[in-house]
Amino acid sequence: MAERADAVIAGGGLIGASVAWALRGRGLDVAVADPGAQSGAASAAAAGMLSPFPEVAGSAPAFELLARTSLDRFPAWVAALCEASGIPVEFRALGKLHLALTEESAGTLRQRARQPDAAEYGLEWLERERLREEEPAASPAACGALLVGRDASVDNRALTRAAAAAAAAAGVNWLRGERVVSLLIEEDGRGRRAAGVRLAGGGQVRAGVVVIAAGCWSAGIAGLDPAPPVRPVRGQMLAVQMPGAAVRRVVATESCYLVPRGDGRLLIGATVEEVGFEPGPTPAGIAALATAAAEAVPLTAKLHMTEAWAGFRPGTPDALPLLGPDPVVAGVLHATGHYRNGILLAPVTADIIAALATGAAAPVAIDAFSPARFGAVREER
Ligand SMILES: Cc1cc2nc3c(=O)[nH]c(=O)nc-3n(C[C@H](O)[C@H](O)[C@H](O)COP(=O)(O)OP(=O)(O)OC[C@H]3O[C@@H](n4cnc5c(N)ncnc54)[C@H](O)[C@@H]3O)c2cc1C
Repeated sequence: MAERADAVIAGGGLIGASVAWALRGRGLDVAVADPGAQSGAASAAAAGMLSPFPEVAGSAPAFELLARTSLDRFPAWVAALCEASGIPVEFRALGKLHLALTEESAGTLRQRARQPDAAEYGLEWLERERLREEEPAASPAACGALLVGRDASVDNRALTRAAAAAAAAAGVNWLRGERVVSLLIEEDGRGRRAAGVRLAGGGQVRAGVVVIAAGCWSAGIAGLDPAPPVRPVRGQMLAVQMPGAAVRRVVATESCYLVPRGDGRLLIGATVEEVGFEPGPTPAGIAALATAAAEAVPLTAKLHMTEAWAGFRPGTPDALPLLGPDPVVAGVLHATGHYRNGILLAPVTADIIAALATGAAAPVAIDAFSPARFGAVREER
């Protein structure tokens, strides 16, 4: 027998869960289908940095606006999710330090702190002595650091659990263990229109709105032509246990980043690998990260490694997300391809999809993220 909903979401990672909660908040009946415990799901694998800061000023203005809008939303959004789910989520707004390990990189970062957008991102160049005061565990070999004062971080695993729990508590119908295999499509006289989804277990969910939020697996859902050009980009990470709060802020170099958590874990990431769905982690990947981390924060070399893992970022050809209506099938909204920034972009994505699904305008410009940029446009008949 077919389930019925106003909207059905394919994928229950952070993006799917956030969209579900937002749609339910607008009064829609919502179902989420997710196979569950997918090895390599990005939302659990991520580092949780909230970093809209572009290393080159003015690199992609539409993306910068999207990312900054999402960061602005974050503190209130996390607080609301914690309250709705009863799950505490660690959120830190202490900024990020880009270490300069060579004089050349010091020159570049010093220069970056003088760009016109410096105030917007809270940029400040810290000389060697200031860096030692601010982050004593940073390498004494560092020539200084660029502080990005507005950057933040969040415990993405707790956040993903909280978003799913908040959605369920609000009445979202969570179809666990259910994989979407294809869209149900009808001809409505004006062209092709989504009527719901078909599930791997043989069932169906009938709904007038279908949201594609299956991360790097989005291209595998049949019925979209063209399929969303989303591919897996593997990222490996490890965690070590710090003595006390040895590192306070996120610390980054050109080769790695280190993200402290309140429970004393220090997350170290990440590789960027085009290896398809090849699982990880690998000894070579983890060794390279460990070496890079020790150059940035020497004490990490001696710390106990508690975990190593890998996940698949949903990458797109231009590294920008796919947000908005499918170019061919009416009623399909894409919320996928968030690549390296899906944790940061979750609140703004949820706001955008909730607005579009209820016939309102997106709260921020999304033309640059239109799925139509990759071809095939719906022909109205
Ligand atoms: C190592 C690493 C570090 C990262 N660090 C950061 C960071 O610091 N900051 C940041 O903002 N972003 C970061 N990211 C990126 C971020 O994790 C992703 O962009 C984001 O999590 C994508 O969320 P998602 O819900 O789209 O995908 P996922 O979390 O992968 O969820 C997709 C879901 O779809 C489900 N699914 C799969 N197939 C189907 C199907 N056919 N039907 C229904 N459901 C299906 C899966 O089971 C899964 O639950 C990182 C990613 C990695 C891998």
